Amino acid sequence: MKTTPQLKRRAAEVLQRLRREYPDAGCELDHSNPLELVMAAILSAQCTDKRVNLVTPALFKKYRTAADWARTPQAVLEKEIRSTGFYHNKARNMRALAAVLARKYGGRLPEDLDTLITLPGIGRKTANLLLVSAFGKPGIIVDTHFKRLSSRLGFTDQGDPDKIEFDLKAIVPEKDWGAWSHAMVFHGRRCCFARKPECPRCPVRDLCPAAGKE
Ligand code: SF4
Repeated sequence: MKTTPQLKRRAAEVLQRLRREYPDAGCELDHSNPLELVMAAILSAQCTDKRVNLVTPALFKKYRTAADWARTPQAVLEKEIRSTGFYHNKARNMRALAAVLARKYGGRLPEDLDTLITLPGIGRKTANLLLVSAFGKPGIIVDTHFKRLSSRLGFTDQGDPDKIEFDLKAIVPEKDWGAWSHAMVFHGRRCCFARKPECPRCPVRDLCPAAGKE
């Protein structure tokens, strides 16, 4: 998508208003360190953050290190995370990731995107989430809300998450990538719903090409 000064100005205005609307916008997966966040992120696939947050306190109490996660038998972990759905694949990815972290990285998560995306169970979305919410680095987190809003707001005409990420990186200043990501998700969860977005009460309706059309 062609980046223009007008597009950049409109994006800045959208972000300013959404920051005002959602001053607390941030990661909604409970965690207290990068390892907990990545495990919660794996569990959040096809599952609500709310449900993940019900399951993780017991897990985080039991599994403190990457080696703890890696050591647990597949069947035990599957039982513990069953209510989040897709528990077979999730347990497999969590154990495989933990094993690599324990074996190659001293139990710690690497802090760069290129290395993160080589790890089991970590795609660009999770890698960017880690950069932003665990390491305080810039990242664009393209989840389903981000995709929908970026498209409705006319900031991308792409459907592929990687291309959307690069479109937005060209429009939003790097220092705002994290804030932008969280603002999009918050707005998508609270107003710009997939079905029946609540345009009349939307703080950016005058800046949105899709206002009243969805
Ligand atoms: S005006 Fe409507 S479609 Fe546009 S961002 Fe707001 S809620 Fe979403």
